[in-house]
Amino acid sequence: MSKVKKKVKVIKIDIEKCNGCRACELICSAFHANPKYSSNNPARSRIRLIREPIRDVYLPVYAGEYAKAECTGRDKYVIDGKEYDECDFCRASCPSRDVFKEPDSGLPLKCDMCEDDPPQEKPLCVQWCINDALTYEEREEEVEEEVKMEDVEIGLESMVDKYGLQKVMDTVARMSKKG
Ligand code: SF4
Ligand code: SF4
Repeated sequence: MSKVKKKVKVIKIDIEKCNGCRACELICSAFHANPKYSSNNPARSRIRLIREPIRDVYLPVYAGEYAKAECTGRDKYVIDGKEYDECDFCRASCPSRDVFKEPDSGLPLKCDMCEDDPPQEKPLCVQWCINDALTYEEREEEVEEEVKMEDVEIGLESMVDKYGLQKVMDTVARMSKKG
């Protein structure tokens, strides 16, 4: 595989500065609504807040890769005396929990860094975080060329895992006849 220059986009999270306002969830779900900004629903956001005010836990987590199966081992973190639940830091859309899944279809959600045309100056969750808990950085790296999966491919993969290839193909064939 050949090497290519790639712009690496990084969102740095400072959990000390997060007060759990959830503005990031709101703007992310509105940006990804169809049509854009027509609705907002935190359940559709690609950033979710682990929020436990009584324990003073506010942890923003970004949706990452789709995982077919839940993992068999778990980690527990204790940071500054606060214990976090086993899956709190995990970014996967996986069968063990409801986060990072589109609530109506169950399809996996993944942060796309607010891809837009023309591009956003910074990801919208960063722009809306008035507490500076989220900051944006870019750098260039040389990486192996990769085939990027579109949202629709990730969604199809998860449907095939859930219902089997034949059922998905039969459904698509039936829909295309109607359409
Ligand atoms: S970067 Fe964009 S897509 Fe990703 S969580 Fe933030 S608002 Fe959502
Ligand atoms: S907008 Fe910033 S302060 Fe508010 S919940 Fe999100 S990360 Fe935390």
